[in-house]
Amino acid sequence: MSDSNCIYLLASNERLIGTASGVMTFSAEDLTDIPLIASYPLGLIDHANYRVGIVAEGDLPEQVDQEALCGLRTMLASVEDETTYTLLSSAAQIVIWHESFKFCPRCAASLHAHSGELAKVCSSCAHRQYPIISPCIIVLVRKGDQCLLAHASKFAPGRYSVLAGFIEAGESAEHAVLREVKEEVGITVKNLTYCFSQSWPFPHSFMLGYMAEYESGDITPDGEEILDADWFSASNLPVLPPKFTIARRLIDRFLVDIGETLPEDSTLFFAAE
Ligand SMILES: [Zn+2]
Repeated sequence: MSDSNCIYLLASNERLIGTASGVMTFSAEDLTDIPLIASYPLGLIDHANYRVGIVAEGDLPEQVDQEALCGLRTMLASVEDETTYTLLSSAAQIVIWHESFKFCPRCAASLHAHSGELAKVCSSCAHRQYPIISPCIIVLVRKGDQCLLAHASKFAPGRYSVLAGFIEAGESAEHAVLREVKEEVGITVKNLTYCFSQSWPFPHSFMLGYMAEYESGDITPDGEEILDADWFSASNLPVLPPKFTIARRLIDRFLVDIGETLPEDSTLFFAAE
């Protein structure tokens, strides 16, 4: 069932197969005796044709050491370049989509993988279901040589990051920035500048990164999503998000903008500028 020219990533139970040293890849030969439940294209990356295959947990190739398997965040932490990030992010999102959308949203019949494109097709009404992408904004608010960083309730103790949130139906990205900042920390911002974007596979967000300038108001965390927020300068930064995140890229860009040297662990594969 595997395509002989492709390199495969595998997943089982919504989980990509990889270890702390990174995602595992397999040749078609490795998968000769492995039944694939489904397989989807990941596109041509560095002249190689990648696919992600879904297998039952009991059907993993024998070279997979189940004890050594780890989660997506651990695999992403070992990534050193944008190409590998894209491969991993795409595969993870497709695997979650595959597991989450098994029935047609129009008529409830079964969906099956489309033979030619990255989609599923309804066996009854021919409706096509494409992978879900949820647009979000993420914004670094600056006030002179300081930036606003916040501790969210879902963060590890001590970690701070920039603000982020989903774009609502009918809303522009710029409006979402103004609304999220106001809702989460109670201040007003101005002079928005779009910087860069990043696909974020937890589970299928598409982050649009902005810089904004402080305009007015006192920082007042909402107490639910945001537990604490404050202005930070380059000399008193808290624990920051890992280097593969767009949040870190925004923070590093801010540091570059104010003429600071980047911290040693900012060996970014997404350039700050
Ligand atoms: Zn249908």
